[in-house]
Amino acid sequence: KPRIFSGIQPSGGLTLGNYLGALKRFAQKQDEGIETIYCLVDLHAITVWQEPEALRRNTREAAAAFIASGVDPKRSILFNQSQVSAHAELAWAFNCVARLGWMNRMTQFKDKAGKNAEKASLGLYAYPALMAADILLYHATMVPVGEDQKQHVELTRDIAAKFNHDYETDFFPAPEPLIEGAATRVMSLRDGTKKMSKSDPSDASRINLTDDADTIAKKIRKAVTDPEPLPSEIDGLKDRAEARNLVNIYAALADMTPTQVLGEYGGEGFGKFKPALAELAVAKLAPISDEMTRLMNDPSEIDNILGDGANRADEIAQPILGKTLEIMGMIRSR
Ligand code: ATP
Ligand code: MG
Repeated sequence: KPRIFSGIQPSGGLTLGNYLGALKRFAQKQDEGIETIYCLVDLHAITVWQEPEALRRNTREAAAAFIASGVDPKRSILFNQSQVSAHAELAWAFNCVARLGWMNRMTQFKDKAGKNAEKASLGLYAYPALMAADILLYHATMVPVGEDQKQHVELTRDIAAKFNHDYETDFFPAPEPLIEGAATRVMSLRDGTKKMSKSDPSDASRINLTDDADTIAKKIRKAVTDPEPLPSEIDGLKDRAEARNLVNIYAALADMTPTQVLGEYGGEGFGKFKPALAELAVAKLAPISDEMTRLMNDPSEIDNILGDGANRADEIAQPILGKTLEIMGMIRSR
């Protein structure tokens, strides 16, 4: 049975970008005869500072978001990364396979480390090797992610290929990024050149899954745009990043194509389009946020789900880690 792996960092409240780029598609994959493994990647989150209480709360809240979005913890494996220690162990092995030159090309590190890279953690630099471990630990071949993670999945392929080459084996399969839908890269509402992120300091830049209807409407109303009406053809969005972003969001939420959205709203100004988008976003997100609130009432239930998921993940991961270390020449005698 083919296997999917994907993760989300509990580094803050989840955004509309996380939902459209990742979460919304996770539940759909359960119905496609694929084994689905979903992970709250808390070891990734600590590559930048996380206040311990906030990390715990964000991990539970992200788990609630998965379940509220339709991920069924019985049909899928849902767990937090740090409970399966094989992730960290395989990451170390991959630190010794990956090359510094490969890491130096990673745009996420450059974006997150900013101008003063000397002050970034070593973990932030090694992040892609841990991500390669997450995926390859399960021999997963499909990785549903947003556009921003494409480079890391490609690096995962490079690590798998170098391992296989160096140790003369075909042990690791090459995973493919699955980047699908109308909103694979949702942009910030304040700056059409930056992607929407849960870690952006500006709350106005993003829509959080837990925002109430008024907040969502206000953020969309205030979203930066040009003053022109929407074009009727998709070509007309080429040099209009902000307008294109809102059209893509609408399309993804409504399960339409951007062309269909322009068929409906072409020629209309933002005065008409933004309220329609806000209404749609509220209609789609409110049930998720209500269900998250309900689930958060019983954190022990969430912790039990994560523990059970970790046990099931560990069963798959341990033999693959063991075999990897054995291939590398480590003695395994207990
Ligand atoms: P952070 O700022 O802490 O990195 P993030 O919002 O980028 O948070 P991640 O946990 O890094 O979220 O990513 C989780 C998933 O969401 C990944 O599959 C990623 O590709 C996807 N994703 C993140 N941001 C967007 C976005 N703006 N549009 C589409 N997909 C996104
Ligand atoms: Mg990110």
